[in-house]
Amino acid sequence: TRPLAEADRAVADAIGAELTREQTQIELIASENIVSRAVLEAQGSVLTNKYAEGYPGRRYYQGCVPSDAVEQLAIDRAKQLFGCGFANVQPHSGAQANGAVFLALLQPGDTIMGMSLAAGGHLTHGAPPAQSGKWFNAVQYGVRQEDHLVDFDEVARVAQESRPKLIIAGGSAYPRHLDFAKFREIADSVGAYLMVDMAHFAGLVAAGEHPSPFGHAHVVTTTTHKTLRGPRGGMVLTDDEAIAKKVNSAVFPGLQGGPLMHVIAAKAVAFGEALQPDFKTYAQAVIRNAQALASRLKERGADLVAGGTDTHLALVDLRPLGLTGKDADESLERSGITCNKNGIPFDPLPPLKTSGIRVGSPAGTTRGFGEPEFHDIADMVADVLDGLKANGLDGNGPVERQVNGRVRDLCARFPIYQG
Ligand code: PLP
Repeated sequence: TRPLAEADRAVADAIGAELTREQTQIELIASENIVSRAVLEAQGSVLTNKYAEGYPGRRYYQGCVPSDAVEQLAIDRAKQLFGCGFANVQPHSGAQANGAVFLALLQPGDTIMGMSLAAGGHLTHGAPPAQSGKWFNAVQYGVRQEDHLVDFDEVARVAQESRPKLIIAGGSAYPRHLDFAKFREIADSVGAYLMVDMAHFAGLVAAGEHPSPFGHAHVVTTTTHKTLRGPRGGMVLTDDEAIAKKVNSAVFPGLQGGPLMHVIAAKAVAFGEALQPDFKTYAQAVIRNAQALASRLKERGADLVAGGTDTHLALVDLRPLGLTGKDADESLERSGITCNKNGIPFDPLPPLKTSGIRVGSPAGTTRGFGEPEFHDIADMVADVLDGLKANGLDGNGPVERQVNGRVRDLCARFPIYQG
């Protein structure tokens, strides 16, 4: 019954430091967001105590009536949000959601095809160091050198040559819309399932501000914590009843034990929020803000992968500025701006150095930043980068301190988690 600050000072201090960090830094990590207090409260609730193996109405433990209620709310809201017939809201993460689909539809050694990490794909899409790359015969497609868009000639050619059982569309650093119909056409031509991993842009799809994969994909996976603005977690969706049955068995008992009922409660809250009209306004602002950020960075001398963005994220090519992603994200963090280094397509530098940074607007938009603020943020980023070029990483302290003052002023005007 003692509050955390009394019961465990060390952990309370670390959480306090994280709160301060979030309040006083500008968050540009494209996969992050700022959840509501209601989401935090649900996630911090007594549902953390409950074992509820199984599904609503079919549990292996007693005492599951409240758990059934929250999980059913999450399922119903997810279905309504995406206009689909089935949702499994139990995957503990996006990687687990993808793993569940593989377990449902594939055998070890089967061929899968996804976008390469170098082109903006995710580890779980068949990258060599991941389970998806080790346990399956993973073949990959990339983007075209001239415009950084998915090379559908290559997708069709690799599909014909390798006859994958599953094709994955979606990625973690791809700033443009994906042509789901074209992916489905190629999947059909080789008898493959099409899985769309909409983890990054799910919130935009929910708001009707991004083409929907439904009607094209056999199965759709997502995380719930990026543009969708819920707790950290995953989800599998489909309109195909046979796949739905297999996915349920694959998530439990195939891959996971007890569902995280407190997280599922928080998912239900977040989906309820995303069903409100103002979530559409939010998603529209997310896209406008990402475009404002990206175009100002371009004006200030950076290049944009794929020439810009249709979504919440932009991939910034730092080569015209003569900088690496590693130096840039370090100096930016010291200035109070958080982003991540990211390889660009055909990057000559290794993944721990990179020629790019990935920036995104979901978190900043949640705290209320609009286009003027994102324009200013781009100038702050560019000032740090210019300083870095002039002074080097070790000599950029004065610029970092000057920019940090501007960062703190802006954050103070748009407070989060106050009071
Ligand atoms: N799929 C995509 C496209 C992602 O970007 C990510 C996370 O970055 C994942 C899956 C994995 O999600 P998680 O980190 O929740 O396992």
